[in-house]
Amino acid sequence: MAFCPNCGREVSPEAISCPNCGHPLRQTVLKPELREKISAAWWLLPFFLAWIGGLIAYFVLKDRNGKTATNMLIFGIVWTFVGFVLSIAIAAFIFGLFGMFGA
Ligand SMILES: [Zn+2]
Repeated sequence: MAFCPNCGREVSPEAISCPNCGHPLRQTVLKPELREKISAAWWLLPFFLAWIGGLIAYFVLKDRNGKTATNMLIFGIVWTFVGFVLSIAIAAFIFGLFGMFGA
């Protein structure tokens, strides 16, 4: 049996809050935000799959390390835009080259 830390009344171990005084019981047992070390290999996911990889990494890792997971998601999205702009620049360069030869 568990006891309410606020009023000392006996409460069910499954109780979310004390039925006597309403003191939240679950909050005290909640684990602090985890900061698990995430392998650097996870960064390959957003690197190769852009925003899709960032999204996968985020959902897999958010419970292990929320900050790193969010960073991977942001990197994936930013990387998508960088890749998009880069491919347009490369395409423009190639077409410009062909245009030069064609003229
Ligand atoms: Zn209580």
